[in-house]
Amino acid sequence: MGENAIEIVGLQKTYGGSGSQPPKEALKGVDMAIPKGSIFGLLGPNGAGKSTLINILAGLVVKSAGQVSIWGFDQDVNPRQSRAAIGVMPQELNLDPFFTARQALDVQAGLYAVPKAQRRTDEILAMIGLTDKADVYSRTLSGGMRRRLLLGKAFVHRPPILVLDEPTAGVDIELRQMLWSNVRKLNEENGTTIILTTHYLEEAEEMCDEIAIINHGAVIARDSTAALIGQMDAKTLVIHPEGTVPDHIALPPGVTLEHRRGGGIALSYRTGQTSANAVLSAIHEAGISILDVASEEPDLEDVFMALTSGAHG
Ligand code: ADP
Ligand code: MG
Repeated sequence: MGENAIEIVGLQKTYGGSGSQPPKEALKGVDMAIPKGSIFGLLGPNGAGKSTLINILAGLVVKSAGQVSIWGFDQDVNPRQSRAAIGVMPQELNLDPFFTARQALDVQAGLYAVPKAQRRTDEILAMIGLTDKADVYSRTLSGGMRRRLLLGKAFVHRPPILVLDEPTAGVDIELRQMLWSNVRKLNEENGTTIILTTHYLEEAEEMCDEIAIINHGAVIARDSTAALIGQMDAKTLVIHPEGTVPDHIALPPGVTLEHRRGGGIALSYRTGQTSANAVLSAIHEAGISILDVASEEPDLEDVFMALTSGAHG
């Protein structure tokens, strides 16, 4: 397999219906290769199928069709090895309330058959900032601490691949920073491949080298973060005019105008259709004198909107 931490081919999942619920096709034939050593973002709106995909990787959900190989091990041929290569921090807080943080880590290490001598419980407790809470019951931990404990549990067997399912949904900024610095450190120092799901565009843009966008159970884009953003040719010039702006300005075709707070006017256009020069000329011809001008590049949100708008269900 070589350079990929994970290879997925034709992955399908249909949840069986129950009672009046019809069956739900959550994944509709997903192909995906996730390079070793990357921080890979699986981005998509709620209900897109992110957790389903993650839970199949983790061995928690049984796929309906397709092939999954993890660290070179086919899930169906070598289930034990493929499971050992991955650690998953689930979206839901599923901690046993009557274990202490230390016990929770120990039990998890036991489940993965990590020999006692190789357990690094104290090191993991320090990494997740729970050294001073090591011996209290997890039911008394705050929500943020529980999440950190889940991160620690995902890592007890030192898997080369760490998967985080919506790790920062509903957590405060401080915890978010701490999670991200932990994750970056694992990636940089250990070379751990990180896969995270998020519906926060900002997070994917900031954290991930590569991104797959998933919507309605299908991958609709897959590229490096920079290339995804680069493929958008939308651009905006924000002009701060001197004095007032006339009600009507004749603009080149396809250019849209929006008034910003503070008196600025934002002119959006596509570089394939119009040039900055043509936009600025139109402003001059309208008799507007320019105090200041700034340009805005597209971000992942623009890409995301362009890809998911008008998508079918
Ligand atoms: P995401 O994590 O992107 O929000 P999920 O993978 O959780 O999406 O869900 C994808 C779709 O599958 C949703 O429509 C969801 O309602 C449905 N789904 C998820 N889990 C189950 C389940 N256990 N039984 C039936 N439907 C499910
Ligand atoms: Mg989810």
